[in-house]
Amino acid sequence: MTTPNAVAVQGLSHRYGRKQALRDLDLTIPEGATYALLGANGAGKTTLLRLLAGIERVQSGAVSLFGDSVRSMSLAQRQRFSYVAEGQELPTWMRLEQMEAYCAPLYPTWDAQLAAQLRTRFDLDSKQKIGTMSRGQCMKAALLCALASRPRLLLMDEPFTGMDVSVRDELVRGLLDTSGEHGWTVVVSTHDIAEIEMMVDWVGFLRDGRIDVSAPLEKLRETYRRVEFTLAPG
Ligand code: ATP
Repeated sequence: MTTPNAVAVQGLSHRYGRKQALRDLDLTIPEGATYALLGANGAGKTTLLRLLAGIERVQSGAVSLFGDSVRSMSLAQRQRFSYVAEGQELPTWMRLEQMEAYCAPLYPTWDAQLAAQLRTRFDLDSKQKIGTMSRGQCMKAALLCALASRPRLLLMDEPFTGMDVSVRDELVRGLLDTSGEHGWTVVVSTHDIAEIEMMVDWVGFLRDGRIDVSAPLEKLRETYRRVEFTLAPG
């Protein structure tokens, strides 16, 4: 029996009123992949991520996660997927320990030990108020909560944009070590080549609401090298 893909999308179209954001989009992402969604502003990355996360309702087409349609998914199934939005808003009035205590009962798979490990790794203080944290610390806190929920699929919308490079690198290493250890699938939208080089093994290009190319990064590199070789003078 073949294992279902983490993500399988067929003929997905999405409109906001008269604005067509996605057009007949097809996409598959294998389980365990770290997948980058690339595309110009307005290409449809956020819309696609929100549809995968179940935040937007599927208007037309089919979206399955690990073989189950998002249209008929139970709450318990959805709790295995985490979504970190662009510029995610956090409860500024809470201390980190309060935020963790708030998140824990929302996820039956919450892993308090993993949360504690990540707190140490990211050098976060459980007593610190979220409102007094730097942007990098807030992202660490958001990632801590997303990972401690043990997501089978983690969806992230431009999580590191505008972030200090050393903080970004620390977050990426924490993310990859944790998701890699557990075999979780990660889908991240980005505009940043350094992030792609550092963290992903698959890349998909979104253009005008459709996936243009979707392939393992190594395969794209090979193709690019071959084209370069063919075009090289002499
Ligand atoms: P960016 O990189 O700028 O975040 P994106 O690739 O994530 O862009 P989307 O945010 O998914 O793209 O937007 C796709 C298209 O849908 C754009 O033309 C956008 O203007 C439009 N759009 C997105 N959200 C809405 C909305 N709530 N109402 C109307 N149009 C929208």
